Amino acid sequence: MTSRNEALFQRAQKSIPGGVNSPVRAFRSVGGTPRFISRAEGARVWDADGKVYIDYVGSWGPAIAGHAHPAIVEAVREAALAGLSFGAPSEAEVDIAELICELMPSIEMVRLVSSGTEATMSAIRLARGFTGRDAIVKFEGCYHGHADSLLVKAGSGLLTFGNPSSGGVPADFAKHTIVLDYNDLQQVEDVFRARGGEIAAVIVEAIAGNMNLVKPLPGFLEGLRRLCTEYDVVLIFDEVMTGFRVGLQGVQGLYGITPDLTTLGKVIGGGMPVGAFGGRRDIMEKIAPLGPVYQAGTLSGSPVAVAAGLASLKLLREPGFYENLSARTTQLVTGLAAAATDAGVTFSADSVGGMFGVYFSAAVPKSFADVMASDRDAFNRFFHAMLDAGHYFAPSAFEAGFVSAAHTAADIDGTIAAAREVFARLG
Ligand code: PMP
Repeated sequence: MTSRNEALFQRAQKSIPGGVNSPVRAFRSVGGTPRFISRAEGARVWDADGKVYIDYVGSWGPAIAGHAHPAIVEAVREAALAGLSFGAPSEAEVDIAELICELMPSIEMVRLVSSGTEATMSAIRLARGFTGRDAIVKFEGCYHGHADSLLVKAGSGLLTFGNPSSGGVPADFAKHTIVLDYNDLQQVEDVFRARGGEIAAVIVEAIAGNMNLVKPLPGFLEGLRRLCTEYDVVLIFDEVMTGFRVGLQGVQGLYGITPDLTTLGKVIGGGMPVGAFGGRRDIMEKIAPLGPVYQAGTLSGSPVAVAAGLASLKLLREPGFYENLSARTTQLVTGLAAAATDAGVTFSADSVGGMFGVYFSAAVPKSFADVMASDRDAFNRFFHAMLDAGHYFAPSAFEAGFVSAAHTAADIDGTIAAAREVFARLG
C-alpha cells in the first residue's frame, strides 16, 4: 500500500519542482521519500501517515522553544486579529529592534527583512556601498542564502575570484567573490596582503552550521577581526543560524568578538518569515532612506512575524534557558557518541548551545575537507534507521541538528536508546 507521504510526494512532483519548496527537503542526499509534516508540537512532528517523530530539525533552527509554543501561537493570533500587514511602521517593530540592539551589543541599528537570504544579500550590498569596493570574501562550506554573490565556489587559485556554484549566476558576478577555506587564517592574510584594498567585506558563519557543525579554531575569528580592521574591510558575522541559538548573544558573545555587521533570521522570527541585518551605526546609516544604499520590502517587519519573534525572544531571556538547552544538547551528543563507541562505529559529535553535529568520522571536523571526508553512506543508513524508529534528524550529512527547550531528558534518552540499536546494526 502506498503511504500518504509517498502519494503526496508523487502529487507534489507534478506541480512543484522536485516536490519541495526548498531543495534539502527532497531527501536527495539520503534517498527515499520525504515526510510530509501535518502537525508539530513541542519536540515532536507528525507526518501525513500519522507517524510521530522526535524532531532534531526544528524547522532548520527557528523552533528553539519547541513547535507551536503556546505563548508564540497566542502572540501570533493576537497580532493577526489586529491586521496581517500594514505597509506602514508599527510599534512592535520598534520593540523588536530595541530588543535586538540590547541583546547583541554590536548591533546599534537594525533593519528587518523576511528571510536570511535577504539579510545577507542586503548586508553585502551595504558593505559594498559603505566601502566603495566590489570584492567580498566568503568561505567554502559556509552558506549564506541564495543571492548571486554568495552562490560561488572557489576559483582555480587562492587569489583568483570565484566561479558560480549555481546555474543562472553570471560569471561576471561571481568574479567579485573570493572563496577561501574556513579556519585557514593564513589564506585570508595572503589575500588581504595582495588585494585588501579591493575587498568590501568578509562574510562568515562564525560557527559554521551548513557543512554540518564546524567550530572556529582558536584565533581564526580574532584574526578575521584584526585583518578587517587593518584593511577597512567590513566584517559580517552571518548569525542567521547561530543567533539566539548558541547563546543569547550569538557566536559574537561566546567568543567576545565584535563584527561590523550581523545577519539574523530563523530564531528571531519564532517560526515566521523574519530576517534582520544590523551593526555599526555609521554603516547602517548608509541604508535608504538615510543613505544611498537601497533596500526595501513590502512585508518587511510584518506585524504577525514580529509578534512571533518578540514572543520567542522573551522566552529565551528567561533565566536558565540556555543552560537547560545546552545540557539537553550535550546529553544527546555524549549519549550518541558513547553508543557508537560501544558498537565500534567510527563516529564523533559536537555541540554548542542548542546546535549539534554528528559525524561519521573519527574526529570532529575542523574544515570543509574534514567534513567531506566523513562516511556519507554510514550517515545515510543511520538517518533512515533513526527515521524508521521515530527520530527525525536532518536529511543530509552536511547539516547541523537542533534541540529545543521542549526536548525532555526522557526524549533524548529515547533517541540515544534507538541509536544504540541502530549503531549495533551498523557496526
Ligand atoms: N545564512 C545562514 C547561516 C543560514 O543557515 C541560512 C539558511 N539556512 C541562510 C543564511 C539563508 O536563510 P533563508 O533560508 O531564511 O533565506
